[in-house]
Amino acid sequence: MKIEVLEKDERNMRLLIRETDVPYVNALRRIAISEVPCLAIGEVVIIENSSILQDEMISHRLGLIPLKTDLDSYNLPEECECKSEFGCNLCRVTLTLDAEAKEGTRTVYSGELVSENPEIVPVSDKIPLIKLAKEQRLRLEAYARLGKGKNHAKWQPISKCTYKYLPKIEIHSKRCDSCGKCVEICPRKVLAKSQDRIEVRDLMACILCQDCVKACPQSPKAIEVSGDESTFVFNIESTGALPPERVLAEAVKILDKQLEQFENELKVKKDED
Ligand code: SF4
Ligand code: SF4
Ligand SMILES: [Zn+2]
Repeated sequence: MKIEVLEKDERNMRLLIRETDVPYVNALRRIAISEVPCLAIGEVVIIENSSILQDEMISHRLGLIPLKTDLDSYNLPEECECKSEFGCNLCRVTLTLDAEAKEGTRTVYSGELVSENPEIVPVSDKIPLIKLAKEQRLRLEAYARLGKGKNHAKWQPISKCTYKYLPKIEIHSKRCDSCGKCVEICPRKVLAKSQDRIEVRDLMACILCQDCVKACPQSPKAIEVSGDESTFVFNIESTGALPPERVLAEAVKILDKQLEQFENELKVKKDED
């Protein structure tokens, strides 16, 4: 397998993965979504709530705030040595909030949560949590723990993970009369007409919709679009909880572990037979 990074920033990564197949890339996608852990608020103790919103609604909103995650310093609750229902410093982070509307109506944002670990904070300070009217107050303690997306979407470290075949576009110059119909219909502006010739301007933008082929009046068609079934354009978008490359590296580790476990189980079964 060969991997090339096409684009990368703090939240997004686009890769070209060659010499592989759908079962492998799809397994990585599914594991990245549902098995790679991240931190999210799981329990909330409301000390004072004179707002108009119920405690449960506030807790639900808190749970959905993505938190910067440190996978190297925290354990999954079920794997932590403390074995405690309440958790310990290695499997739980406490965040507190004390917000009051002294002057008049105001919005409380995620940035007002105070974490006991300055590394574990909301990925954005600007997520609105609640509106308080004058003299209303909200005081609470929230406990964040590692969890997995398969149990609740709040524990998904990524908001999007997709892949597609690398597009292949072929224009048969002998049959093409440069009518331009394929250029006009393409929703992604992949094709362009230049000096009476049709050119592929942005191959990666192609979504393999086949509209250009359907629009071509020639018979047989002068344009052919297909996907390379062993090469994939893989997109991953993080919520900000973890860098996208870390999510992918963790997904590979988890898949390797699952395959090893499967192999061992097969061996045990064979020995029993
Ligand atoms: S398959 Fe769709 S996206 Fe790709 S070039 Fe043709 S019309 Fe454009
Ligand atoms: S629609 Fe067909 S004939 Fe017309 S420019 Fe495109 S490929 Fe050529
Ligand atoms: Zn613990």
